[in-house]
Amino acid sequence: MAWDFSTDAQYEEQLAWMREFVRDEVFPIETLSLEHDQILALIKPLQEQVKARGLWAAHLPPELGGMGFGQVKLGLMHEILGQSMYAPVVFGNNAPDSGNAELLAAGMEMTGREDIRERWLAPLLSGSIRSGFSMTEPNTAGSDPRLLKTRAVKDGDEWVINGGKWYTTNGSVADILIVMAVTNPDVHPYQGSSMFVVPVDTPGLTILRDVGAMDHPDVVYGQFGNHAEILYEDVRVPADHLIGDEGSGFLLAQTRLGPGRIHHCMRWLGQSQRAFDMMCERALSRFTHGSLLAEKQTVQNWIADSQAEMHAARLMTLHAAWKLDQVGASASRDEIAMIKYYGAGVLHNVIDRAIQTYGSLGYSSDMPLESMYRAARAARIYDGPDEVHRQTVARHALKSYEARDVPTDHIPTRAAAARIKFADVLEFLEAEKV
Ligand SMILES: Cc1cc2nc3c(=O)[nH]c(=O)nc-3n(C[C@H](O)[C@H](O)[C@H](O)COP(=O)(O)OP(=O)(O)OC[C@H]3O[C@@H](n4cnc5c(N)ncnc54)[C@H](O)[C@@H]3O)c2cc1C
Repeated sequence: MAWDFSTDAQYEEQLAWMREFVRDEVFPIETLSLEHDQILALIKPLQEQVKARGLWAAHLPPELGGMGFGQVKLGLMHEILGQSMYAPVVFGNNAPDSGNAELLAAGMEMTGREDIRERWLAPLLSGSIRSGFSMTEPNTAGSDPRLLKTRAVKDGDEWVINGGKWYTTNGSVADILIVMAVTNPDVHPYQGSSMFVVPVDTPGLTILRDVGAMDHPDVVYGQFGNHAEILYEDVRVPADHLIGDEGSGFLLAQTRLGPGRIHHCMRWLGQSQRAFDMMCERALSRFTHGSLLAEKQTVQNWIADSQAEMHAARLMTLHAAWKLDQVGASASRDEIAMIKYYGAGVLHNVIDRAIQTYGSLGYSSDMPLESMYRAARAARIYDGPDEVHRQTVARHALKSYEARDVPTDHIPTRAAAARIKFADVLEFLEAEKV
């Protein structure tokens, strides 16, 4: 019987190095107001250190330049990287490039097409090109991708793409976009959608704007992390820009989404831990109404509840990662869905309590909490809104039950059944009493 919550000593050493490296080398970058290209120049030597340590782009299999870690190890790594928005870039696994690399790799595996490696995958992994993932549309519900309207039609050796997308993160700084489009409207969308690589300089592709959002309310066009609105008007790409087989868009998306959600949840725990650390430090430092905040029961409750919630989310997420490694994404669907909404809630709650502990300072941009809070709000929406994941979990849970006219646990009914079951004994006991 194996039921082991420990990390092997060799990997624990790597994690310890990552913790120290992120704290000492990456945290300080957060405070500098630099242009994206300046930041890239600043982190280049850090990326070299990560590569020398063998931790670069660890999410991919070894034959594609990754480490073949498996999801539990990757999860533990993402918990550390999630503490800072720059750490994933330093480690070569920032979204959406990491997920897009996984899609390209999955497409390669599906079709055996080696050319994808040289054209897009290798440059993406080395960081020499950037990418976006264009699925969500402003006029259809992103929570139900079966409603996708963007169309791709085959015309000779080319595909012609028409549609409108928005919230393509990094779209305005990307070199290539991975676009999901309907290629066969006559079959179920799960079999009728496909993914394409579209270079951003393809005629007909117009980046309309970067959408102002809670994480970038005063959006400046063309910054890393922005979310672009994009028009695709008769955008023609060669047939070999199709990723995987025609009709495999949803299948490819599934291979990417399971691990991606685990990484998100572990990164949220890194963020939660940072907010928690700030909360505890302030509780021990601020004196009001005759005592430190740390001595007030309400604040103690916030600390205790946050600690318990983070612990629960961590165990749930590592268990989902373990299960994904053991039995694959499809059989781990419920576990992955549960951590998506539970983890997003924990992230929100812990940052919210930390802000409250700091009062006006927490609300101000002199502390990172306010921007962490704004970014955290999105976690309940992207990669499937809370409600959709809850629906998945509830639907599967309900499959184990059936409707009954009389509830199974109806006590009078059970008592009648018990009286029949034990009739002989009850009769004997009754007689004895007399
Ligand atoms: C920060 C951020 C980054 C993003 N990056 C990308 C990206 O790079 N590429 C990309 O393609 N997309 C991206 N998205 C878009 C994201 O995937 C969509 O926002 C998400 O899929 C939800 O779709 P929607 O916004 O159209 O909401 P809708 O589908 O319109 O849903 C609105 C609300 O309806 C409710 N709802 C939906 N379904 C149900 C249900 N079954 N039961 C009960 N209530 C329900 C939920 O409360 C939901 O929030 C990003 C979004 C954010 C916020």
